[in-house]
Amino acid sequence: MQRPTTPHTTSSPGWRLLLRRARLGTLLVCLLASAIWGFEMWRADNRVFAWTKPVSVLVVALVDPETPLGSDELSELLHGFLSSPRPLDGNVAGVAKWLENERAALSAGEGRVVDFSCAGPFKMSEAPPGPPPADASFLGRWSATRAFLGYFEDVAESLDVARDGYDVTIFVYFFAEERAALYGKQHSMASRRDGLGVVFAPLGRKHLPYSAALLAHELLHTFGASDKYEGSRCIYPDGFAEPDLNPLYPQRWSEIMALGIPLEAGRERRVTELSDCKVGRTTAAEIGWLER
Ligand SMILES: [Zn+2]
Repeated sequence: MQRPTTPHTTSSPGWRLLLRRARLGTLLVCLLASAIWGFEMWRADNRVFAWTKPVSVLVVALVDPETPLGSDELSELLHGFLSSPRPLDGNVAGVAKWLENERAALSAGEGRVVDFSCAGPFKMSEAPPGPPPADASFLGRWSATRAFLGYFEDVAESLDVARDGYDVTIFVYFFAEERAALYGKQHSMASRRDGLGVVFAPLGRKHLPYSAALLAHELLHTFGASDKYEGSRCIYPDGFAEPDLNPLYPQRWSEIMALGIPLEAGRERRVTELSDCKVGRTTAAEIGWLER
């Protein structure tokens, strides 16, 4: 005869308690992990450099797959943009000099602001993914942005450029003028969180001064500067290089994060070169050059 089963009157509550504690422990670990992740993201989104030493910036030059590269003229052009030690309005050394002059003009510090290193040019095997469609949902925009940034992160990994050794990486993506229709919709952009910026640059000597202005603009985003335009209009006062000018119009320069020179109310000229631009006081405060 089978003995009647007796309920586990002594061990069951112990197991239940253990299980409850294990569940609670797992929940706490998950909460802690997401709090740490959230804090790290917040810290990266709010990172401001101390400016006690130059910020190290890697500029990686990429070339569109269909753009022929090989003529002496193009090599010379790219070399002049990336590696020439002589500061020009349309090269990397010129951007370094401009940043130095702007900080000095604001009495915010002397000496080098950034140390640029350059890599490339590297010919790409495929073009980066396009921007999200205008009517994309929030999720659609987010995933398109991730895919876009992921393309450049993968490129850095496959080219074995050691991004970790630098505070910021800027990719300058060159394409032939004939390919402008394809790249017309691509926007230069930057992520402060990832310390990564992308500049789309038509290949040609006449375009380099504007590409240098875009490079400075995207670089300042990675330092913490916000855009200071709305649509195609500079925002007053932060998007004006001289908001206290009397009379206010015409402005003489563009605020670098607005990329337009207000000539009269409702009329602006788009920037064509970096020497059109100044760092305004709000941008200087955002990136930690001046007290807020
Ligand atoms: Zn911007």
